[in-house]
Amino acid sequence: MKKLFYIDYPQEHIEGQTHKYRCTYCKEETTIINGRLEGHLPTCEYRIKLESAGYEPDQAKSVKDPVSHDADDID
Ligand SMILES: [Zn+2]
Repeated sequence: MKKLFYIDYPQEHIEGQTHKYRCTYCKEETTIINGRLEGHLPTCEYRIKLESAGYEPDQAKSVKDPVSHDADDID
């Protein structure tokens, strides 16, 4: 079970940095997380919660390949 983007985590403003936000739990910047579950620290409450719910960090796929899985979804 995967989501395309993991952006529903709680965010907080980074003090002193005008347009920067970070995850409330693991304090990683949103630009580093970049919508990926594995962008959060392994200890992040949000990541742990989603992983325990069956979502997986996308470690194996480092390169996006939009054409390779076209036929896979037809069952
Ligand atoms: Zn986090």
